[in-house]
Amino acid sequence: MLGEEQPRVADTLVAMTQFSLGEFRAVTDRVFVAVAEPAAVNIGLVVGAAGCLVVDTGSSPGQGAAIRAAAEALAGVPLVAALATHWHFDHAFGLAAFAGVPTYAHESVPGRLAQTSTREVAENLDVAFDSLAAPTQTFALARVVDLGGLRVELVHFGRGHTDGDVVAIVPDSGVIFTGDLLESAGPPAFGPDCYLREWPSAVDGILGLVAEDTILVPGHGAPMDRLAAFQQRAEISGLYGQVEYLIGRGVKLDDAYAEGQWPFDEATVRGVLPLAYAELAAAGIVPRRQLPLA
Ligand SMILES: [Zn+2]
Repeated sequence: MLGEEQPRVADTLVAMTQFSLGEFRAVTDRVFVAVAEPAAVNIGLVVGAAGCLVVDTGSSPGQGAAIRAAAEALAGVPLVAALATHWHFDHAFGLAAFAGVPTYAHESVPGRLAQTSTREVAENLDVAFDSLAAPTQTFALARVVDLGGLRVELVHFGRGHTDGDVVAIVPDSGVIFTGDLLESAGPPAFGPDCYLREWPSAVDGILGLVAEDTILVPGHGAPMDRLAAFQQRAEISGLYGQVEYLIGRGVKLDDAYAEGQWPFDEATVRGVLPLAYAELAAAGIVPRRQLPLA
């Protein structure tokens, strides 16, 4: 199986590990976003009449506690739930701070958080592995959280950035939190645990709900509109298609970058090519030596 590692902890990031939380800023009258470091992850807050929900929990239990306190202070209603959009450290390591309320995530997340690689990432961040918590409410497909006159739908549209991406849809506010299925701070994060071939169809699940004025809050970066999301979906799909095409032509991994046309920068493409070749090889698709042409 692909991808047993927690990605996104580059050595540079570890070296400059600093936990901080920016202020929650309004996206709509009911939806707020704050940026947490390290990793510049978007933390969401959805405020209903009776309760509020936090989307993603930060990179440590301590940061999760800071998020919880800031969310409750701003919302003026009790925190009633938290969501980890996927298992990566910047989204899920703060879960322990949300004890006492349901913490939602895809059913694959507890197993992922228990992996050896998760322990290594925690140690690199100076976070005690034993202080991490698993989500308490896991699901395969969907859950609804009622905040009092405001519904938040939590949906897993399939594998993509990870095997357990969950998006949070706030229909009445016209906002969708996409997790790292979409990113506007840079190219999407293609880690060793991503599923390139399936990723576009997970994004299609989001796009099917997007109206012209829907605000998409990605895992990292400024809010995106429908056009930007369609474009990124096409780029992810194009990347996979290009690798498939090259393999069909017999192009080996070492030559792939030079031989292809790519929708992302060189570093991103060079990083993802081994993953793409491995994913296709796992499906039995490998470059064949072509017969010499007469
Ligand atoms: Zn991620």
